[in-house]
Amino acid sequence: MIPQLQPNEIELIDWADEFAQQVLAPNAQQWDEEAHFPPEVFEQLCQRGLAAMLLPSDNGGADLSYVASVQIFERLVRGDLGVPFALLLQNNTLRSIWLHGTSEQKERWVPRLVDGSLIGAYVITEPDAGSDAGSMKSTAVSLAGDQWKLNGQKWLLSNSPVADLFVTSVVTQLENGEAGGISTFVLERDMAGLHVGQASETLGARSLPVGDLHFEDLTVDDGHRLGEIGSGMRMALDAVNFARVVWGGIAVGIAEAALEEIIEFLKEREQFGRAIADFQAVQFQLADLACKIEAVRSLTYRAAAAIDLGSRYIELGAMCKKMAGEMVVEVTSACHELLGGRGYLVPHSLERRMRDARLALVADGTTNIQRLVIARSLVGRR
Ligand SMILES: Cc1cc2nc3c(=O)[nH]c(=O)nc-3n(C[C@H](O)[C@H](O)[C@H](O)COP(=O)(O)OP(=O)(O)OC[C@H]3O[C@@H](n4cnc5c(N)ncnc54)[C@H](O)[C@@H]3O)c2cc1C
Repeated sequence: MIPQLQPNEIELIDWADEFAQQVLAPNAQQWDEEAHFPPEVFEQLCQRGLAAMLLPSDNGGADLSYVASVQIFERLVRGDLGVPFALLLQNNTLRSIWLHGTSEQKERWVPRLVDGSLIGAYVITEPDAGSDAGSMKSTAVSLAGDQWKLNGQKWLLSNSPVADLFVTSVVTQLENGEAGGISTFVLERDMAGLHVGQASETLGARSLPVGDLHFEDLTVDDGHRLGEIGSGMRMALDAVNFARVVWGGIAVGIAEAALEEIIEFLKEREQFGRAIADFQAVQFQLADLACKIEAVRSLTYRAAAAIDLGSRYIELGAMCKKMAGEMVVEVTSACHELLGGRGYLVPHSLERRMRDARLALVADGTTNIQRLVIARSLVGRR
């Protein structure tokens, strides 16, 4: 069962659609070419409550269901991928602090993440610990007097080059020398010992700033530790699991926009004395692509509804991410191919979408890692 959207949700989805058409789409090509992240546009999205989609409205949130949230992403990415993806990271950062923070931590950081005056990054991946995030090496060692000393290196971090707050997973070591498991700390950009790297060159989603981070003898007090000691991996996985369902919406939005664009082109472009869209072979190809998009949309809304209804959704989320990644790469490649030689001349919006689509194969767990999650639930062993 997929819950009905509320009037405020329909209004916000329509708003996102218009924002994508009027603000994101006209600038997407230029942001891609210049690898430019537009902070003022990001802030506009935050000011509409979209940094805190799931938070109650009396805390500045949009009070949306998961089903509505994935549809917001579906609409926004029709304009551009990088800026909405930065917004997803903002939601994840904020949601972790909201769910696991003390009242002081919430008071200190949540309102400024909600209105976009602080930008958040979610820091898990290390050069030697990607799919196997649990093998991370960065450490936080407990010191006398409520202090922790952090050392480590992280990379491939969305928002990091422009972020103010870093929700960071590290391996904790307690004062008595005992292992404390993976725990989460909130690091602030101006802390001594925190080094934020420059933005990396990326293949697609180029309006998303991506970079690395290292911390060297960075000392923080216990007020910067988020949630229970040892709960860091669970917290990170919760954020990643939510993102996997959102990826369904992202993939549908990108693929549908690409399909619409190529259909317009094929109706205009004539070969052999008729519009290419009139050839049945091409029409069948378009029909197959449309079916694949609809299948992912259905799976995505079902996975999102499972979260809304409080049902188990981890495997559904992994299925959603796997199917979404494969579908969006296939659809954007096919649409690009239907451009003929034009597609090889750059820049072209379908060439950009084809590059953007490949992020769906990697971020928030690669396709093989989704298979792993699904297969373990089927076979019942690791
Ligand atoms: C643009 C971008 C933004 C990102 N943003 C963030 C972020 O904000 N925060 C963050 O923490 N991380 C982020 N990441 C990192 C992302 O989560 C990792 O890249 C991803 O989890 C894969 O890890 P890896 O790159 O180390 O690949 P690896 O783990 O080295 O994998 C390499 C290949 O081996 C395969 N493989 C690995 N293990 C297995 C296995 N057991 N069985 C079968 N195949 C396997 C993988 O599927 C992959 O194809 C981002 C990445 C990108 C590209």
